Amino acid sequence: MGLPRSEYTPASVEDAGTRSLASGVRHEGMVTVEIVVIGGGAGGLLTSLLLARDGHDVTVLERDEQPPPATNDDAWDSWTRAGVSQMRQPHGFIGKTRAVLVEELPDVWARIQESDTYTVDLTRFAPDQDAATEEDRRRLRVEVMRRTTFDRLMARAADAEPNLEVRRGVAVSGLTAADADATGVRTVRGVTTDAGEIEADLVIDSGGRRSAAPRWLDALGAPVEQWSESDGFTYHSLWFRTHDGRYPENVAAFFGGMAPGLLTLIFPGDAGVFGLAMVGLGSDKILRRLRDPEIYTAVARRLSPIAHWVDPAVAAPITDVIPMGAIQNRRLRFWNGEGPSAFGFVNVGDSVLSTNPSLGRGIALAAVGALELRSVLRQTDQPREIAVEFDRVKEERLTPWLWDAVASDQGMRRALNEALGNPTNGDISDRTRLARASMMDMDCWRRWNGVNQAFDLPSSCLDDPELMSRAHELTEDMPPPSYNLSRDELVDILG
Ligand SMILES: Cc1cc2nc3c(=O)[nH]c(=O)nc-3n(C[C@H](O)[C@H](O)[C@H](O)COP(=O)(O)OP(=O)(O)OC[C@H]3O[C@@H](n4cnc5c(N)ncnc54)[C@H](O)[C@@H]3O)c2cc1C
Repeated sequence: MGLPRSEYTPASVEDAGTRSLASGVRHEGMVTVEIVVIGGGAGGLLTSLLLARDGHDVTVLERDEQPPPATNDDAWDSWTRAGVSQMRQPHGFIGKTRAVLVEELPDVWARIQESDTYTVDLTRFAPDQDAATEEDRRRLRVEVMRRTTFDRLMARAADAEPNLEVRRGVAVSGLTAADADATGVRTVRGVTTDAGEIEADLVIDSGGRRSAAPRWLDALGAPVEQWSESDGFTYHSLWFRTHDGRYPENVAAFFGGMAPGLLTLIFPGDAGVFGLAMVGLGSDKILRRLRDPEIYTAVARRLSPIAHWVDPAVAAPITDVIPMGAIQNRRLRFWNGEGPSAFGFVNVGDSVLSTNPSLGRGIALAAVGALELRSVLRQTDQPREIAVEFDRVKEERLTPWLWDAVASDQGMRRALNEALGNPTNGDISDRTRLARASMMDMDCWRRWNGVNQAFDLPSSCLDDPELMSRAHELTEDMPPPSYNLSRDELVDILG
């Protein structure tokens, strides 16, 4: 790995795409592949650790320079991660993410356990808690910590991993590739960086929501299918730390309270720190006043589920308000209409699809992609087969989550618009009905949470006529939502 261009001879036109991936070492029926991963964020590090532990030689190229700081608090205070703009937005690590950590990266999980993180046992909010099974209790849990804590622990594990090298401060600027094969498809052979060219058997893009992969592939003449839609919401987050490092009594799983046009989520994190996220419509301009921490805190103190958390005697804000908007549901597929548009180049994490953050599924879906890629690499070392098979798997097991996020956003926009007295159209979706039915019926609750926690595909519920007919029955007369603050009161505080 790391040959300068002059020493690098591309494969001939005939064998581009069919050449065995590695000159590599065969062991246990597998071929060790030299892999370059672009991006050392959550998805890139998860993928790299899984693949390095499967015997591949992995090099991660990360544009941000700073190594992971010594402690979780140092990471929060001073880790500069310009490449991950959501680094200081609240994150929940849902059931599937948690399960992958427990089962696949037990050493990282052990470090997480030592970090004073907060576990939300979702069975506590089940319609019939006594009916919750052991399996419910094991699967349906969310771990909450600062995203800086999670990335620090992952980055330190990656730095300690024998087959894995993380090169920080290296920005990838393009791809190198062999000439096109008979079908016009080129095989990627490495990357260009500000520190020179690096050769690889397989390049994995984990460059996040703003991945430059479409530009790089365009330069190779390889088309990319792109789909995106703005979720239409605005997010304002504010972080607090409790004075005694402990948390007040639990709140109903992330529910921080509601006013017409505003939903508040609470994320108790690690070490007495917790974040609030206030979500509303981007078009609801008055919500911009939430950027003022005093106004923000005044709203939070009027929301009964969390008023006791933000009581000045209990906790004080530790940041400015962090706004974020125009977030997209987005998907990238390296596809030329008939097949993969490049071989030797795949993507994971937000580069594949990024979905509405309020569902908290991003890192779980990155983990699903990483596990699927690992399985594909256990079956074949042929660039063409990898590209074809991994694309098929992503279409089957990842893309459905994009459409679920789009449907979820539609439901949320509808609810917010209704609350504001704006016109809405169409029927209430099956998805919304099932979500509401899950608050009343244990079977609906269990099945819907299996989806919410990214264990089961949405179709496992939505395509089940019996379950859906039960959800319709239960939601025939849906009561209007109840609010913790009226719109007039909210507007009054916002000024
Ligand atoms: C507001 C918000 C809240 C969220 N909340 C949750 C949540 O609660 N739970 C959850 O699971 N997910 C959540 N997500 C989603 C989650 O943050 C992402 O799914 C996750 O970060 C994806 O990991 P990634 O590795 O694909 O991308 P990122 O973590 O964004 O990492 C991309 C990395 O690539 C690097 N990079 C980019 N280009 C280059 C280049 N050319 N050369 C070298 N390096 C490069 C960047 O510096 C960065 O380090 C949230 C997202 C947002 C926006």
